Parts: sequence; C-alpha cells; structure tokens
Amino acid sequence: IKKIGVMTSGGDAPGMNAAIRSVVRTCAFHNIECYGIYRGYEGMIEGDFVKMNARSVKGIINKGGTVLKTARSKAFRTKAGRAKAFEKLKSEGIDAYVVIGGDGSFTGAMVFNEEYNFPVIGIPGTIDNDIYGTTHTLGYDTTLNTVVDAIDKIRDTASSHNRLFFIEVMGRDVGHIALNTGVGAGAEEILIPEEDLGLDRLLESLRRSKQSGKSSSIVVVAEGDKIGKNVFELADYVEENMTEYEVRVSVLGHMQRGGSPSCFDRVLASRMGVKAVESLLEGKSNYMVGLKNDVMDLTPLNKAIKGRSKINMELIRVSDIMTV
Ligand code: ATP
Repeated sequence: IKKIGVMTSGGDAPGMNAAIRSVVRTCAFHNIECYGIYRGYEGMIEGDFVKMNARSVKGIINKGGTVLKTARSKAFRTKAGRAKAFEKLKSEGIDAYVVIGGDGSFTGAMVFNEEYNFPVIGIPGTIDNDIYGTTHTLGYDTTLNTVVDAIDKIRDTASSHNRLFFIEVMGRDVGHIALNTGVGAGAEEILIPEEDLGLDRLLESLRRSKQSGKSSSIVVVAEGDKIGKNVFELADYVEENMTEYEVRVSVLGHMQRGGSPSCFDRVLASRMGVKAVESLLEGKSNYMVGLKNDVMDLTPLNKAIKGRSKINMELIRVSDIMTV
C-alpha cells in the first residue's frame, strides 16, 4: 500500500477533523502518501481528491464538522456509480481508504469491497453511538457534554417558572444520548426507545415528583421514543392531564452535532486514526476500529453494521433511584 485515501461520509460528528488529522499524520509517519477525498462517496465518484501532508491538517483538531465535507451519495448506491469511483481511485493510484462515518457508510464500503476487493477500514463517526463493536463512537462524548450544558440552561428557566420541560435529544432509534444526559442533568424522567414507560406511568411519576416538592421538572425524550407520536403531542397530552405544571417543549436539534470536540473525542479520534492506517498497512481490510475495555479493537464491518449497541440498563435504575 502506497497511497491511502481518507474521507468523511454520512452525518457529520465532532471529532471527524481530529480523525482526519490522525490518518494523515500516521500516513506521513509511515512515509505513505495520503489523499483527502471530498464529500464522501460523492467526491470519490467525481475524483475530488486532494493530496495532504502532515501540515495540511494543522489547526483542525479542535474544530467541529469536517474539513473534507460530507455528503450522502445516491450514485454510489448504483453499480455504475461505484464503477466510476473505482476508476477515479485507480487513476489517482489510491490503493486503500479510511472511511469515517456511520453504518450506511460502512455498508457502502462493504459493497464496494465485494465488487472491487478494495481495502478499507472504517472509523465510527456518529453522535448516536449506535454502532456495534465500540463503546464510543466519535462525537458521542462531545454531544453528551453539549446536551447536558443545554439542559442545565433550560433548567434555570424551568425552575424560575415552575415549568415542566420536555427536551427532545438526538440519537435516532437508540437511547444512549437521552439516557446518559438525563442522568447527567438530573432529569425526572427519561424516555428512550428501548423501554416503554407508558403514558400512565409517566403521569404518575411526574405527579409524584411534584408532590415531593419539586418546583420544576425535566423530561428528556429520545427522538426515537415511541411513547407519544412526537414530543409536542406528548407534551399536549401531559398538559391536558396534569394541571400542576405549565408545559414547554424544547427540541435541541442540530446544535447537538456541532462544536469543538471534547478531549475524550480528540484522543479517541487520534487513536482510531493510527489504528486504521496501521491496520491497512498490516494487510487488514473490511474492519472497523473501535474502543473496547480501553484498547483499540477491530470488528468486521458486517458485524459492526448488524450488531446492536446496547444501552446500559444499570443507568435506568440509577436514574430511578436519583428521582426518589
Ligand atoms: P449517519 O449514521 O451519521 O447518518 P451514515 O454513514 O449511516 O451516517 P448514510 O447516509 O446512511 O450515513 O450513508 C452514507 C452513504 O453511504 C450513502 O449516502 C451512500 O452513498 C453510501 N451507502 C449507504 N448504503 C449503501 C449501500 N447499500 N450501497 C452502496 N452505498 C451505500
């Protein structure tokens, strides 16, 4: 392997830049040429490549987003699109690549590998932490900190007005972000897709909390939760059935994806980049790098995609105890 490509694909996540930096510098360390591929598979198909060296990634470790941009590519889902991508990589002499993205990006990498036997290693970059084979995906820790900070601020206004706030957080169909930030910010209830609390129990719990002398309440709702049709309908239902509080909704939205990566994510990105490049140099392919028991580990891409990252059930109990 003489030339390695690096790209970000799918949704962006804080820490992607730190991972790009690590891939580029690990290549430089091993005297391997490194090419940035812009806009994920879209740029691969168009041959939108740029040669990078150790200095081209200066000053980005602390930046959110991704300097290589990211995209969702319809064309890469077609045989013709992937054939074009292969031609572009071949004509540039790129003979392996690192893809930083989520399960969709890994699926694309596997399909491409089956067709062209093109060496690839994945780095899990998504705030949702919904990938099997790593306890932490890149960006997850930063998002937890961003969300906890936002909830703290909302609590200031909630307690000044005796309000009940429903705060919707990201996480797609898993409850990692909701569960951890709910415990971290002291939410009264946490609604996650993995556990169906039921509307009656929610009301009962909120009444209990009011009776115990609380002046405000925070309910953290995972975007994938199924209890109400959506967080606004859920809030309406609670307001109709509970007159004790004024109810408000806050959907945190895309601010959860932005911002400077936490120290944890920067360190994780640096480790993952090194592991990804060195795995390619050892002749490995079709794996995702991940963190397990604080060591870097490899999981086959097909397992990473199919497996389910499980929430920590202990946290549900901890949350129940904390809201006594
Ligand atoms: P996130 O989880 O943050 O959304 P992701 O990597 O899962 O990130 P997707 O949009 O699902 O994001 O996938 C990224 C890209 O991977 C797609 O736009 C597409 O180009 C490619 N891809 C996904 N699935 C396939 C597939 N079955 N065949 C070929 N390419 C695919």
